[in-house]
Amino acid sequence: MNCPYCRQADSRVVDSRPIDEGSSIRRRRECATCGKRFTTQEMAILSVIKRSGATEPFSREKVIAGVRKACQGRPVNDDDLALLAQRVEENLRGTGQAEIEAQEVGMAILAPLRELDEVAYLRYASVYRNFNSLDDFEGEIALLRALPFEKNESDTSEDERELSKS
Ligand SMILES: [Zn+2]
Repeated sequence: MNCPYCRQADSRVVDSRPIDEGSSIRRRRECATCGKRFTTQEMAILSVIKRSGATEPFSREKVIAGVRKACQGRPVNDDDLALLAQRVEENLRGTGQAEIEAQEVGMAILAPLRELDEVAYLRYASVYRNFNSLDDFEGEIALLRALPFEKNESDTSEDERELSKS
């Protein structure tokens, strides 16, 4: 990749270390032209398999765009949405799969969205349930039954949420 200072392509790696428990690697590079150093980070691409069968890289922005509409008029800010998208990505990466069905991304959004705002969750779920077949309905019902309904509203978790926001 090009040096961010002088745009030349030639650089050498001077240091390389795994981060985030080995899920990505960070490299310190030195530009061969201008001698300045910069850092790159390398992470396996999480691919989303669309209904058409085509794949595209997972995008937090797409998750946020999909959820934002359901959050209109609700007490949900950009930080909440960014955190939600981050949790969705972490959960999906945590499954250890390199490729995820688009349907699974939609399902991974439901639980954190319900924790964030129940009204937004219901709106999102109702759109998300715009099904094409009986199998889709059966899948959604199974999903709703499988998801735990109790909310984490103990004092400690509320405190932690407030702390992480500040
Ligand atoms: Zn340079």
